[in-house]
Formats: sequence, C-alpha cells, structure tokens
Amino acid sequence: MQGRPPPLARFGTLAICVLAFLLAPGNAQAQAPDWDTTELANGVFIFRYGGYNTAFVVTEDGVVAFDPITPDAARLLAQEIRRSAPALPLLAIVYSHHHADHASGASVLRAIFGGRVPIIAHENALGPLIEAASPVLPAPDLTFSRRLTLRAGGRSIELLYLGPSHTTSMIVALVPDAKLAFAVDFVGNDRVGYRDLGSHIFPDFFSALEALDALDFDTIAFGHGPPGDHDSIRRQIRYYEDLRAAVEQAVAEGWTQDEAAERIRLAEYADWTGYEEWFTLNVRGMHRWLSRGR
Ligand SMILES: [Zn+2]
Repeated sequence: MQGRPPPLARFGTLAICVLAFLLAPGNAQAQAPDWDTTELANGVFIFRYGGYNTAFVVTEDGVVAFDPITPDAARLLAQEIRRSAPALPLLAIVYSHHHADHASGASVLRAIFGGRVPIIAHENALGPLIEAASPVLPAPDLTFSRRLTLRAGGRSIELLYLGPSHTTSMIVALVPDAKLAFAVDFVGNDRVGYRDLGSHIFPDFFSALEALDALDFDTIAFGHGPPGDHDSIRRQIRYYEDLRAAVEQAVAEGWTQDEAAERIRLAEYADWTGYEEWFTLNVRGMHRWLSRGR
C-alpha cells in the first residue's frame, strides 16, 4: 500500500488479496494514494483510491455504499458521497467479501453519517469478521445466502452470491436500471489472477465466472482496474481455461510445479496487467489444484 497502510497484520490470512502491484517499482515511495470519482452510469459512482475501486449508488431516498476500502479511503468516500448526494442519508454499507484490504473503514462511514448504518454481507463473511473483531471492520448486521434485493428511492440493487470464487463470501452487485454490475477480486479487465490464486476456490471459481457472464449488464466495474463489459468477462474465462489446459497437460506429463512455472507461458496474455509479476504464480496455483491427490 502507498501512504498509510491498513492494519492488515492483525487479520492474518484475511488480508491476502491484491496489494503487491501497488508496491511495484516507481510506486515504492510512501505517498498518499491518488483518488477520483466517476459517475459510470446514472447515479452509480465508482470511487478509485490508488489501485482499489469501490462503488456507491444514489437514490432519491439515500445512498448505498460498497467496500469502504480503508479508514483513510472511507473519509474520502464519505466526502464524495456528500458531494454527489448532498443531504441524503447513507442507507447501507455492503461488503463485497470479507477481506480487510477492501472492507475496512465501515466504522468511519458510520461515524461520519451518524446512526447505525446497517452493514450487509454474505453469510460466510460473518464468522471470519466476528473472529477478527476489528474496530475498523465491523461484522455485518444483515447477511444472506443467495440473493438480496435492496430497494430505495425507486431503484433496486441486487446482491448476488454466485458460489465460491475468490473466498466463499464474495458477492456481486447488479443495478438493473443502470445495467451495471460491480465485482471484486475474482475477475477484472484483462488482468491475470493475484499471485498464486491463494484465495481462489476451484473448481467453483469457473462456475462463478460463467454465472457472472450470464447476468444482465452492459458495464461492469471491478475492485481493481478499469471497467469493462461482457467481452471482458469472456476474456477472463478464456484466460483461466487456457491456463488450466496448459497446466493440465504439464501435470499429465509429470512436470513438477517448479518445472511448470519455469516452462509455461501464455504469450497471448503477455500484455495483461499483472502478467509479468504474477503469471508464473498463477501457474503454480493452478498446478497446486490440479495435482491435488496425485
Ligand atoms: Zn480479496
């Protein structure tokens, strides 16, 4: 992280998603993350904080905010919500999943907006967050298993569980009237998976990508990187299928994980975000899964 990092050390394995790309050469100097807010669709805003994105949806009755990211990011997010929706209350905070590097800061939003703004998450986020007992990452007040529809000010927001993907607590948000979706960490726009895919759950992950592609949206924003569309999702599906096929062949030929990481390259994806740093680690993660039980 640039600037002041969140208190990740306390959460151990909870804090295992995307961080390292912020520490790439050129970004190593401590500095406050740059940030901006974009209205990606009518009343649906994407707040970018360094390499992280979150979203908030403005309705006539109030605002629904997603991942606060960090306490510092949450202060800026609150400012941007106020600027975009003056005098409207914050109706709810929704965690995409339980990882601390996306979900921290809800207590800051609550303090700024006043009252006990309800926090919503998938039911599988509840246990890890109660266990973590973090003052900046409060456990959800409301959980669901498959689908929850939030209705406010004439709009609806669908929260959908597509099965295990990146953790078992990952949900996707869909704003039907804007034909816009928001998905975090298990998918992105022309980017490889994070490091050795340690939080990816196979084979369910593949089903979640297909289920995401089946949703009715025109635009999809991601937890990292620029937004995309259905073609972005199909390219992700193809990448993971190609990775799986290459590693399956390697495993069938008896290559060790080291040999697979050394030899396998997918040149078609060489210009993707993260390829240089993480592709060989992606190979290792896929090899670990495919060689399980051998
Ligand atoms: Zn994560």
